[in-house]
Amino acid sequence: MKITRRSFGFAALGMLAPALPALAKAPMAGVQAAGVYRLKVGGFEVTVLSDGWLPLPAKLFTGDPDRGAKLLEGSFLSKSEIPTSVNEWLVNTGDKLVLVDTGTSNVFAPTLGRLPKNLATAGVDPAAVDMVILTHLHPDHAAGLLTTDKKIAFPNATVHVGEAEYAFWTSAEIYAKAPDEAKSFFDIARNSIKPYVDAGKVERFNDGTEFAPGITASAAPGHTMGHTMVRLSSGPSELLLWGDIVHNAALQFPEPDRAISFDTDPALAIANRKRVFDIAATDRLLIAGAHLPFPGLGHVTKASSGYAYVPVEWGADL
Ligand SMILES: [Zn+2]
Repeated sequence: MKITRRSFGFAALGMLAPALPALAKAPMAGVQAAGVYRLKVGGFEVTVLSDGWLPLPAKLFTGDPDRGAKLLEGSFLSKSEIPTSVNEWLVNTGDKLVLVDTGTSNVFAPTLGRLPKNLATAGVDPAAVDMVILTHLHPDHAAGLLTTDKKIAFPNATVHVGEAEYAFWTSAEIYAKAPDEAKSFFDIARNSIKPYVDAGKVERFNDGTEFAPGITASAAPGHTMGHTMVRLSSGPSELLLWGDIVHNAALQFPEPDRAISFDTDPALAIANRKRVFDIAATDRLLIAGAHLPFPGLGHVTKASSGYAYVPVEWGADL
């Protein structure tokens, strides 16, 4: 058959000769859309909230640099500055609003501090948050406890911080021994939580603490001494909010032995990363990472060498 305009019905369309208005040129948006993503975990509604992103120098990761460059190239990433998501999570249990980690406020990088805007997009007033759980006290997780003008950001929330984590960052002895370049991390951790301590709103937790029915602390130290994951469990559904088990998917899934210079105890961080990868792969657990590409939800599988990350498919409906 000879293909003609008529074959496609264009001739017929032409006969209708609609008077189409000239299309206006649409202005460019020039900004990214909101960083908000929802999923259901049993009876819980979880909203992943982006705080933005930051460029992480590849040289912060330990391990063979040539092999590292190949892994980054294979993932179409810059071999020098790696774009890195910063994600936090809001859990609506049906009874309580629980925020796990708070973002960076304005203390770290201009590409960060977007959690309040994304929380607003999600339709949540910070005053409605009942509980804040902190995986650890690094700035990208805890500095958002305060607004940009250093006021309490979540006025009705109780703040939960790991016993070991709080002890480490508030220790005068450890602070005195810390290298100068690390001291700002201590200052930010202390300043961020102090107004809540003064208001009597901080509670310490340990491994296995149940914050609310189905929301449990699971210790995974090394990145920081009190670094803790939060396990959500509702009916048959589970989600492991694993915090900073991984800082770069392209490097650390295939080679979990790579530490990042921010790790307080790199060997312990590596041991816990391997332990958590093994659990997640064996149990086919859905995991959420603070620094996996937004929305940072996926599964871990064993690969021929190391592990692989399998992001979840976009869920258009809950
Ligand atoms: Zn982090």
